[in-house]
This record gives sequence, structure tokens and C-alpha cells, in this order.
Amino acid sequence: MINSEQFRKDFPILFQEVNDEPLVYLDNAATAQKPVQVLEVLKHYYEHDNANVHRGVHTLAERATAGYEAAREKVRQFINAKETAEVLFTRGTTTGLNWVAASYGDANVQEGDEIVISRMEHHSNVVPWQELAKRKKAVLTYIDLTPEGFLDMADAKRKITERTKIVSVAHASNVLGVINPIKELAELAHAKGAVLVADGAQSVPHMAVDVQALDADFYAFSGHKMCGPTGIGVLYGKRDILEKMAPIEFGGEMIDFVYEQESTWTELPWKFEAGTPNIAGGIALGAAVDYLSEIGMDAIHEHEAELVRYVLPKLQQIEGLRIFGPSNPEQHTGVIAFNIEGLHPHDVATAMDMQGIAVRAGHHCAQPLLSYLDVQSTARASFYFYNTKEDADRLVEAIIATKEFFKDGLI
Ligand code: PMP
Repeated sequence: MINSEQFRKDFPILFQEVNDEPLVYLDNAATAQKPVQVLEVLKHYYEHDNANVHRGVHTLAERATAGYEAAREKVRQFINAKETAEVLFTRGTTTGLNWVAASYGDANVQEGDEIVISRMEHHSNVVPWQELAKRKKAVLTYIDLTPEGFLDMADAKRKITERTKIVSVAHASNVLGVINPIKELAELAHAKGAVLVADGAQSVPHMAVDVQALDADFYAFSGHKMCGPTGIGVLYGKRDILEKMAPIEFGGEMIDFVYEQESTWTELPWKFEAGTPNIAGGIALGAAVDYLSEIGMDAIHEHEAELVRYVLPKLQQIEGLRIFGPSNPEQHTGVIAFNIEGLHPHDVATAMDMQGIAVRAGHHCAQPLLSYLDVQSTARASFYFYNTKEDADRLVEAIIATKEFFKDGLI
């Protein structure tokens, strides 16, 4: 395991009391906390370099541009894209998936074609495809899950057909704690002439991702879940596909030349980045990438795996606790959704908050999944590299205490 204590000191937010108890932050799947190294970069940028990018010749503009484009190169290395032309800055995963649906989808999906997603998708990997299917009179189909919450690959083989144009699946689930075989799905999609889109919101922050090895055609993720700021994210796309795609937004920055009645577009990646971008956010995302790379993504992944090996068996021993996803800790990520029998997840999360523990409750933007699982909502604890076994113990104790409190009518 990595020494979390060494890294925790970089996260001032973790050192506070909530409801008179030391905070245990276990809502990392919603958003991760930011280390001082990232906060300092944001502050430094606004104090010393703030200027608009790609336009000015003055020193500050050159510094801002160099910082922003250097961050793009850091992201390129981080996900092993071939070139920075393939790394588009977005607002986050949602924007990236919408861009693919609006641009690639509109141009390539026709009436009667199929778009294949899975039953475990986040709404941002559902709704853009629903809208595309409606616009094009295409068919949206869902790959089923196994009883343990894995993608049913036999069903994937049946659902991905000659009519399929797009397959879009989460690399890691934000509810079930599973990792999906993106490379295998890409092979299935490519064999039928379809593209593979991966939602990397829950994978890029937690494991080494190599977009070339996965052979994904598109790969979207968010900065804020990987120690970066909100409002910045990345859409990776293969160059030959991006070249053929039309921009989604039009305006400054993305043009080559504007005539009176029409315009031409500049080259990748800027063709997709209309308007003044989130410059500080991009630069700070670069700092987040540096920070995570310094620890090492394999070390982060292993640390979380060790926490799951430690905590999952303890949770499984609690009577009346339903845990979603695989029962084998080796197959479960640090996202653990659960329900306490007879208690509403919101009451559970409130009771946990009273004990200083931040967990989430709700549908986790995955209503089709929850309907499939036949539950209204769940509580969810999600770990990151700065969480410790003590945090895991506090979670287990708090769940047991919550059960007791409600039993005795104390809350
Ligand atoms: N996909 C998954 C699997 C997610 O967990 C999330 C964030 N909860 C998103 C997409 C959307 O990310 P964002 O809100 O940052 O666009």
C-alpha cells in the first residue's frame, strides 16, 4: 500500500471536523479533493500569467498559451494518445460524450441503425444517445449484466450487430464497482464497422489508462474526479475520425478564416474548442496529472484494491447490508454501493454525516441501472488513494452504529 499519510497532508480539506467528528471523505466517485499542488498552480496562474490564449503576442499571453498547451501534452502522455491533436479539452465527461453524439453521431447514424450502450451507464452516457436515436430514428439497445453486475459479454456479442454504428460503455462503473473490458468491446465494435466510445470518468482517476492499447475510438473523462478543478475535462479521439468530424460549437479560436457568408476551420484540436477555454482549469489539470503520475497510477490502483480487500469482507459480515456488484474483493473497485435493509439510503447518508462520514445517497445518475436492479436508490462509499484503513474502519463502525441508532429510534 502507498503511505496515504504522506499524501493526506497535501489535502487541507481532509483535516476538519464535520458534526464534531473528524471528516472521512468517501464521496470520491462524485468528485475528488484537490491537493495544494493543484491549488497553488491555479493561484499562481491568476497571480502571474493570466491572459487569453492563442491570440496575443505579449509575454503573458505567450505564457498562458504555453502553460495550457503544455497541460495538453501532459494529458496526452498520461493516457498515451499518439499526439496532442487527439486531446480535446472539454468541460468534462458529459460534454465529451455529447460532442461525440452530436458530431460523429449525427453524421454517421441513419434511420434503423443501432447504438449500443449497457445497463450500467451514467445518465451522461445514456441521454445523449437517446436524443441521437430520436433525431435519427435509430434504435438504442442495452447490453445486459450478469447477476454479479458484470457486463454480459455473450449478450454484448448478440447486441453488437451489422446495424450497430456506435458502442458506448463505461470503462469503470460508478455504482457496481466493476471494470469493463473496453479492448474486447472495441474488437467487437470494430468487427462490425462500429466505433467504440469509452466513458472514462471512473477509470482515469484510479488506474493506468492507455487509449492506444484499448483501441478506443473516443475516450471521455473529467478533471474534477482526478484531483483537478471542476469545469475541465478531456475527450480523446483518433485523429482520422476527428478530422472528418464537424465542430459542435462555432466562434472564436476554432476558425481558420471567416468570410462574409462562410468560414473554414482551424486544425485539431482547436477546431473543437470554440471561445475562450478554461485556461486555468486546463493548466491545473496538468498539475493534477503531474501529481497523480508522481504517485503512480498502478500504485493508486493497488492501494484502492488493498482497501477493498480489507473493507469488503467486513461489510459483507454486517447483517442486513446489501452490497451491489461483485462479492469477490479482487473484482471490486473502490466504489461500493450498499443499502441497509429497511432504511432509506438518504437517512443512512444523513446518519453517516452526523458521524463525520461523507457518503452519497441517491440514484447516482444511473436510473436505468437502478430500475434493472429493482431499487430506488442506494448509499455509496467510494475510496481514493488518500483514504486509509482507518477510514474504512470508520465506515464499517458507522454503518453498524446507524443500524443500531435506527433500531433504538435514536435518530
Ligand atoms: N460517467 C460516469 C461513470 C460518472 O461517474 C460521471 C460523474 N458522476 C459522469 C459520467 C459525468 O461526469 P461529469 O459530471 O464530470 O461530466
